[in-house]
Amino acid sequence: MGMATEANGDKKLRTDCSTVGEVIREERVYPSEEFRASSWISSREQYDEMYRRSVDDPDAFWEKEAEQFFWKTKWDNSDGKMHSENFDLRKGPITIEWFKGGKTNICYNALDRHVKAGKGDAIAMYWEGNELEQNKKLSYKEVLDNVCQLSNFLRSVGVKKGDLVAVYLPMLAELPIAMLACARIGAIHTVIFGGFSAEALAQRLLASGAKVLITTSGYRRGHKVIRMKQIVEEALSRLLEEEGHSIETCLTLANDSAVKRQDVPWTARRDVWWQDVVPRYPTVSHLEWLDAEDPLFLLYTSGSTGTPKGIVHTTGGYMVYTAATFKYTFDYHEGEVYWCTADCGWITGHSYLTYGPFLNAATVLVFEGIPTYPNPNRWWDVIDKYNVNIFYTAPTAVRSLMRFGDAPVKAHHLKSLRLLGSVGEPINTNAWRWLHEVVGNGRCPIVDTWWQTETGGFLITPLPGAWSLKPGSATLPFFGVQPAIIDPEGNELSGEATGALCLKGSWPGVCRTILGDHERYEMAYFGHFKGYYFSGDGCRRDEDGYYWLTGRVDDVINVSGHRIGTAEVESALVSYPMCAEAAVVGYDHQVKGQGIYAFVALKDNTRNFDEIRQALITTVREQIGTFAAPDKIHFAPSLPKTTSGKIVRRILRKIAAKELDDLGDISTLANPEVVDQIIALTGN
Ligand code: ATP
Ligand code: MG
Repeated sequence: MGMATEANGDKKLRTDCSTVGEVIREERVYPSEEFRASSWISSREQYDEMYRRSVDDPDAFWEKEAEQFFWKTKWDNSDGKMHSENFDLRKGPITIEWFKGGKTNICYNALDRHVKAGKGDAIAMYWEGNELEQNKKLSYKEVLDNVCQLSNFLRSVGVKKGDLVAVYLPMLAELPIAMLACARIGAIHTVIFGGFSAEALAQRLLASGAKVLITTSGYRRGHKVIRMKQIVEEALSRLLEEEGHSIETCLTLANDSAVKRQDVPWTARRDVWWQDVVPRYPTVSHLEWLDAEDPLFLLYTSGSTGTPKGIVHTTGGYMVYTAATFKYTFDYHEGEVYWCTADCGWITGHSYLTYGPFLNAATVLVFEGIPTYPNPNRWWDVIDKYNVNIFYTAPTAVRSLMRFGDAPVKAHHLKSLRLLGSVGEPINTNAWRWLHEVVGNGRCPIVDTWWQTETGGFLITPLPGAWSLKPGSATLPFFGVQPAIIDPEGNELSGEATGALCLKGSWPGVCRTILGDHERYEMAYFGHFKGYYFSGDGCRRDEDGYYWLTGRVDDVINVSGHRIGTAEVESALVSYPMCAEAAVVGYDHQVKGQGIYAFVALKDNTRNFDEIRQALITTVREQIGTFAAPDKIHFAPSLPKTTSGKIVRRILRKIAAKELDDLGDISTLANPEVVDQIIALTGN
């Protein structure tokens, strides 16, 4: 369907598909001439030229990107350098600085700057609630007013520059507002995902040392009512009893449509209702000018691989980097409606729901609900209702909506869509195709953005007007990003290669430390390969220089000497129509060293398992090769996931190894009950 095939900037034009066995191994998807012509980066030549400059002279490149922002004081250029870094532990501690000495404020640049430029009436945010009838819209001026009032309140309770403020909220409009209010006064926000339990919340509050907490009485998520203040109460009393740590102010938004004021536990003096205090403050609030290297926020990683790390991002470099990546990757043009389905509890909600878009004066849609409430039409309804142009989501959500077939999507015109995006995990090729063909009607390029909490913004991503896509590949590095593929001995490989994905040299958005544990930061990211940032992910670079993420390096399976990435096998399994989701892990195998253990969730559990098992094995054999065929297939009701929706293979690895007493941290799971169900089904 409608795949445009005209030449774009690519020098090497090739046939659209190459086939291995009976399966399409590689296909190219080109942007339409119309898309290309209007995009910021509209040819490979333009990218190549800019990329070269960004790597040859990063200071000059990023200074130019930074000039659009307001700087109270320009950065220190006295030694002819605007950034400095040590990426090599052999030369001393890891340090990274960009725009040091420059004084700015990210909230000013995200809001005041636009209002001053006459864009105060432009819509900053459309908010769509969990319930169909709940929605509102806020102009840039209105967001600024709200931010100022809240920042004045925070000051009034003693919050100063450098203090930590914890935010534990669902996706209400007040969540990005709270982040910006902190940034305005130089307070460091730490958003704690609203789906976390009292225990997980208490851990993060304690680790961060926050004294002020912003929350709500409760909220609705699908059919469920979540009594958020109740969870806070439990977390806070636990903190006080066990650790002697107390929150001094708990600002609580009354969300009466979910949980009424009178129905929440309340501690006088500590607890204040947002509606009773915040609107009383003036809608002007003076700005705290921050050094570019002053911390902006603290955020815990998803916990896919172990205990979450408290990642610290700073002000100036993060601002410039998120703004540039947002503009070029989403090819954002003024007036477009952009929807990112991520929660502000994760980095995507920071960089690409809040800072990146607002820095670009974009119109952002914030959706509180879930894709299947009140029915699986909801997302598509929302796209048509707000005429969403750019839609950024995650593979886990795509896979879950594919379960409902094409009909809900097809019942909508989705004509406004221009560009689609994916983040969080490798996107299986058939999920990619479904998104492209069914949702995007074959018209919309997909930006498969590879990045991490630690990287602040996109590192490997398509620039959608500049080159053709290959489904499943994140394609090429963003400006200033120098990927390196490294073998287990630490050698950097050139040309076509597979190995650990590392980065040479810093980019402005990279995190500067782990809160209170710089050594863990140095060991986790710079301890493996000297002189490089190690991402923890495996990767293949193909003959065209495109990058393919193969999964976490720790998850790589070595079968009879073949190193097999989890992503490829899972992608093959998921291409089998009855398979909803799959995760593969290695286990000790007497002959092969490691065998492949596949956990598979089916769309429908009433089928004949033996037949499906055989069909799945055949699928992998045909698509990859006999060596990659799973040795064991274990049907599971669903797979364990982090609260951000990612499959947690480390727990599955323990189950496959029958190490049931040592499952590790399951507190970051969204669905811990699944672990017991899977174990019960192994018969262990
Ligand atoms: P933790 O670091 O606590 O184990 P996490 O790595 O899941 O958790 P995030 O920083 O949210 O926490 O996720 C970054 C990771 O997500 C990447 O390292 C990569 O494994 C995966 N990822 C993100 N985007 C993509 C993508 N487009 N393609 C493939 N993998 C991706
Ligand atoms: Mg990680």
